[in-house]
Amino acid sequence: MSEFNVCLLAGDGIGPEIIAEGVKVLNAVGEKYGTTFKYTEALIGGCAIDATGSPLPEQTLEAAKASDAVLLAAVGGPKWDTTDSTKPRPEQGLLAIRKELGLYTNLRPVQIFNALAGASTLKPEVIDGVDLVIVRELTGGLYFGQRNRYYDEPGAGANGAPGQRAVDTLEYREYEVERIARQAFEAARTRRGRVHSIDKANVLDTSRMWREVVHRIHDQEYPDVELIDMLVDNTAMQLINWPKQFDVVVTENMFGDILSDEAAQITGSLGMLASASLGDGVSLYEPSHGSAPDIAGKGIANPIAQILSVGMMLQYSFGMTEAAADITRAITEVLDEGWRTGDIKDDTTPAEKVVGTVQMGDLIVSHL
Ligand code: NAD
Repeated sequence: MSEFNVCLLAGDGIGPEIIAEGVKVLNAVGEKYGTTFKYTEALIGGCAIDATGSPLPEQTLEAAKASDAVLLAAVGGPKWDTTDSTKPRPEQGLLAIRKELGLYTNLRPVQIFNALAGASTLKPEVIDGVDLVIVRELTGGLYFGQRNRYYDEPGAGANGAPGQRAVDTLEYREYEVERIARQAFEAARTRRGRVHSIDKANVLDTSRMWREVVHRIHDQEYPDVELIDMLVDNTAMQLINWPKQFDVVVTENMFGDILSDEAAQITGSLGMLASASLGDGVSLYEPSHGSAPDIAGKGIANPIAQILSVGMMLQYSFGMTEAAADITRAITEVLDEGWRTGDIKDDTTPAEKVVGTVQMGDLIVSHL
């Protein structure tokens, strides 16, 4: 019988409420598939600042590094909002743990639950059956290159004042492209076997190197996966025009940032989107939404994004693909029966079908 250690980082706001439902589902999976999950709880974000003064205490980092996977809920809230840059902020805990664990890949699946098709602004026939994942490079590119601002062009600004110049550097190293390409091809092998590699190779040198490297890794190591190149501007259009063509979409940091937000809107609901951050060691799984302080403590938060994050953990960290699919099936059935949390209900939802966080978790477990 297999056994996995999971580090639980509940964080702030609705975090403790939704992570409890994630654990409930994980335990149900454990019973069904004969797997034991052991848990270590640790502090991150605002609650960690209150207890220790740091948003990522050393103890938390140690617990995360010693685990097989990290399940995080969300951090932050008005209590810790500050414009004083010398004060610790909850989000620093998130950035620090991603950096410390070397998480260079961000996976964001976009999956349509047909029962919720009405929540999208796109036509039902366009989004029906959409099931794609964006694989975004997380630690290179424009966001991490050298940047600078100059005031060195006399007379170029308004009224003859010195004009400004600003520079951001888009830089990639070959090994960074190799490892993200492998993550994308590996993901495709657990899915429908197709990778779209997104670049701007008609203009940028980084993109031309990106394309060469992705093709080399493909030809040498993953010839069984279908590889399609697509320019980023065309991709932005194709994502809302015909999203069903995509299975795995791999791209560099900034293109991925923009395309993943665009793709998220296909589903139309924030409480349904999970994400995984992967590196070469321990991986981290979390919902895409924040700590929702406006509804914290009310028992009405939607736990589905957290539970889908559990599904991603099973698939990517523990190789339990069947169990991950089982979770998606259970959620689909619960939604098909008409059950909704407040954020995904609409005018047609009868009052008796609107449930809270715990009831939604219970319903999903009962379908497992
Ligand atoms: P948010 O995602 O927390 O909330 C936006 C809106 O969506 C709110 O109305 C909220 O009630 C609702 N919502 C979010 N998740 C929900 C869920 N599971 N069920 C039902 N409704 C849900 O974004 P925000 O309000 O901009 O940020 C709140 C705090 O969260 C801030 O401190 C922000 O910095 C932090 N934040 C954290 C993360 C993270 O931990 N990864 C991500 C984004 C924002």
